[in-house]
Amino acid sequence: MSISSKIRDSIEKASWIRKMFEEGARLRQEYGEENVFDFSLGNPDPVPPPEFYTIMTELVSERREGLHGYMPNAGFPDVRDAIAAMVAETHGIDIAGKNIVMTCGAAGGLNVVLKTILNPDDQVIVPKPYFAEYGFYVDNHGGRIVLVDTNDDFSLNIQNIKDAISEATAAVLINSPNNPTGRIYSEDEIASLADVLKSSTDKGRTVYLVSDEPYREIVYEDRAVPSILKYYEQSIVVTSYSKSLSIPGERIGYIAINPACREVDSLMSGFILCNRILGFVNAPALMQRLVSRLIGVAVDVSTYRRRRDLLMDGLSDAGYEFAVPQGAFYLFCRSPIEDDVEFVRHLQGYNILAVPGSGFGGPGYFRLAYGVPESVIKKAIPRFKEALDNLKRE
Ligand code: PLP
Repeated sequence: MSISSKIRDSIEKASWIRKMFEEGARLRQEYGEENVFDFSLGNPDPVPPPEFYTIMTELVSERREGLHGYMPNAGFPDVRDAIAAMVAETHGIDIAGKNIVMTCGAAGGLNVVLKTILNPDDQVIVPKPYFAEYGFYVDNHGGRIVLVDTNDDFSLNIQNIKDAISEATAAVLINSPNNPTGRIYSEDEIASLADVLKSSTDKGRTVYLVSDEPYREIVYEDRAVPSILKYYEQSIVVTSYSKSLSIPGERIGYIAINPACREVDSLMSGFILCNRILGFVNAPALMQRLVSRLIGVAVDVSTYRRRRDLLMDGLSDAGYEFAVPQGAFYLFCRSPIEDDVEFVRHLQGYNILAVPGSGFGGPGYFRLAYGVPESVIKKAIPRFKEALDNLKRE
């Protein structure tokens, strides 16, 4: 057998994604790019902010020894200091560069954290619906993912998390603003979760709270994303610039660990070693220097806001139901029929590509990513309406 049975299995389980992409490619070929409405991808389409190009141009023309060489596995010390100063301000805690590790995106950072903290069969509690890659990341490091239901409005169900905690629990992993629901967990939710985790940690093993926050800057109605670092000492933030600067292909992010964490120095040594031995070695040098010069710069959220409103107005007029996204760029809609995979197939008949909620542990829903131009949304709305009207007639 040429490949491991586990990877063969994973490929098989993820085959519906491949089939969707194949169907999208077929539709594009048959009807032309402009007549296919692709809401399936989490790939942001706005170009990076103008400052990105200005600084990038400056950086690429610099010629100095060491600029493109290896550096400490945690990243350039001056870059880590600059990020720490920004985290201190945003999260309202005291944190220094020694508590930051520059990573290859949030995905790289999450793998580093999980490899550092997980023993075989340790459990990671994740509220669902959730970013399904977490299942692979936890499994990569011998852990087991434990999914718990959120409330009907996708807010955290603290009792469910409490009930799921056991001696095997190494961490609770949350994502806010959330992919796929767009939900931001409130100060009250974070405070209550912190209380539960504190009392478990006081009784037995440390339960870490890990917050995956690549959408922190993409929020609507001037909302702020509460910081876990303020509420709970055993906390770790993982994030990236993939969405805030619209540069997911550049693979740059960071881990920020709460300096008050138990054994913080050992954890940091673990992160640094894991960044190396997972094969990342270090985050891309050029990108580290770039993001340290772009502190406070982000894509224009009003672009996403306009698209969100356009999509919500059109879909609600057409008769769809959904949770209003507070952040990120996803609309999680209720499937008009029980079988969300079937409904997503039905939408394909109208040249609309969406992702079934089942893929996120949220059956009965489908996800629309609005990282697409307004013109696509405008053209797609009558098709969404037609799809629903015809379904009701069937
Ligand atoms: N976490 C969530 C919730 C995401 O939606 C994504 C990407 O879509 C990632 C992590 C991975 O982000 P990155 O590109 O920074 O690795």
